[in-house]
Amino acid sequence: MINKLYPWQDALFHQWMQAGETRHHALLLYGKAGIGKLNFAQTMAAGLLCLQPQHGFACGACQSCHWLSEGAHPDFKEITPEDDDSTEGSKKKTRKRQQILIDQIRVLNDYLSLSAHRVQGMRVVLIHPLEAMNVAASNALLKLLEEPPQRTQFLLVSHQRQALLPTVLSRCMQVEMPVPSREQGLQWLQTQAVPDAEWLWFYSGGAPTAVQQEGVDLYGWFQQCRPHLIGGAKMDVALAVSVLIKQGMEQAIQALQKWLLDLWLSCHQQPLRYHPADVAGLQGLAAQVNLSRLLAFQQQLNRFKMTAQHPLNQELQLEQLLLQYKKMFG
Ligand SMILES: [Zn+2]
Repeated sequence: MINKLYPWQDALFHQWMQAGETRHHALLLYGKAGIGKLNFAQTMAAGLLCLQPQHGFACGACQSCHWLSEGAHPDFKEITPEDDDSTEGSKKKTRKRQQILIDQIRVLNDYLSLSAHRVQGMRVVLIHPLEAMNVAASNALLKLLEEPPQRTQFLLVSHQRQALLPTVLSRCMQVEMPVPSREQGLQWLQTQAVPDAEWLWFYSGGAPTAVQQEGVDLYGWFQQCRPHLIGGAKMDVALAVSVLIKQGMEQAIQALQKWLLDLWLSCHQQPLRYHPADVAGLQGLAAQVNLSRLLAFQQQLNRFKMTAQHPLNQELQLEQLLLQYKKMFG
């Protein structure tokens, strides 16, 4: 599908598509993860490249739309961290790089120095996430932004604007991306036919596109995790590991972080952010928890998340973390 706009983005989309020639050549679309920034940028790219757009939206039928859906549009370049193939012994491993490298920007530079495929047409460059560029890549991009090629639209997507170089920021039009209201988010989740839209809305922290992925039943999974977490000091760690790991290590860590934040809020009689339906269970735990151990464990999880790229022995790592969880109570 070529048009992937979310309902809370309609007004902004039309504003930027109608801007035409007056539109800034480099739009920085920023905001928290999980609100649909990349979809917005992709929809905009398709609309700009389409030969017969309708109200700014790509038609889905012309040659340009066809190329784009095939991933082979000569006037569209997408730049994102690339896969890194390495061999260890006899095993071939592919892992996602964390960075956008300067070579990728050099290739872009060469590409942009040639003329566009269509004489009067636009070229679109989509870079995401922008904070993945290392300093060398940022400086190379800066040169392009300072002397932009004609009829080229840069769409730059960032979850962490504060991590970008000020020089790069100064060359962009910064566009704060809208977040869905509770009503908009719930309505959208309901159209996705998820088993519990209300739960998912809160669990996502108001950023529903990050948690709602086709074929992933986070709600069903958390139903299984919940009794283990509520168990506190009585948690059976081996059983809890086998359940929490089911959606992968990253989801397990996130689930623990969200649960701990709500536990902390519960200790301070604050409204819960991610699990308002579990207020009773969390209050029960708040009565038993040692606050300084809670804080120490939160910090440990943050550190763990920063370093947790290596896939070694995840069950064992999670087991260690859950032992820490148990020790907070009693
Ligand atoms: Zn089209």
